[in-house]
Amino acid sequence: MKTKQDKKAYSPTSTTFQLNDKNYYSNQANWHFQSKSIFWNFMQCEAAALAQLKHEYQPFSNPTPLLFGNYLHSYFESKQAHERFIKANENSLYKYGNKEKGLKSDFKQAQKCIKALENEERFRLLYQGQKEVIVKGKIFGVDWMGKIDCLDLKHKCFFDLKTVDDIHKKHYNKRENGYTNFAVDRGYDMQMAIYKELIKQTFDVECTPFIIAVSKQSTPDKAMLSIPEWRMDDRMNQIEELQPHIQRVKNGEEEPNYCGHCDYCRSHKIMNEITSIDDIELY
Ligand SMILES: [Zn+2]
Repeated sequence: MKTKQDKKAYSPTSTTFQLNDKNYYSNQANWHFQSKSIFWNFMQCEAAALAQLKHEYQPFSNPTPLLFGNYLHSYFESKQAHERFIKANENSLYKYGNKEKGLKSDFKQAQKCIKALENEERFRLLYQGQKEVIVKGKIFGVDWMGKIDCLDLKHKCFFDLKTVDDIHKKHYNKRENGYTNFAVDRGYDMQMAIYKELIKQTFDVECTPFIIAVSKQSTPDKAMLSIPEWRMDDRMNQIEELQPHIQRVKNGEEEPNYCGHCDYCRSHKIMNEITSIDDIELY
């Protein structure tokens, strides 16, 4: 279950750090370990990712999708986890923060998504492994961490729950040089490749990843998705290629690149160049 990162910035120089449930989403953990989400941030914009890691910049983000995801994840983690989550977030989940007034429409939708999955016999049978398992290991010489939604070592597979607006929506993606699906667009193929490797290093078991996707449509769509090996190999190659520079940027040994078009870059932009309309960069 994701929580907002702690407020205190952390110095990367501290040496001893024990990764556990309590500090997994902390800033300390992000300085000691690489993770898909931080690596992905660096891939989008190094300058913004570094500033965020140093707590110099906090991008505006709507908290609802995160709460929505956590509502669903905590439900399938355990009854206690879900109760804990609801208690901690009563103000955000209920209308006027009042339990008597009922859930806000977003979370009524989350309930619908839960029902849609629960009504699937196959999902109920498959989603039986250990929940929220922390894994760690070295990927191309760097310490990485991951948290597995549902790990079934006995059947050598693991599952990741993803909520999505529409499973079949197309997304323009520069690297794919055209339209692609939500999973590739959000780098879930990279996440699954990393998790597979970290599970192997933590438990010495080769597991097959599956994404369980559920849509936020009024009648939720659902799908169980596999990830082709070539996509995971491709993502590992991408990590190998990009990681050395990203690590040096993280360690302050190299300057970050500015993507030039994210909120952070726009807020630091100085209008001192003239660009021909034929040279306006398109994303
Ligand atoms: Zn940027």
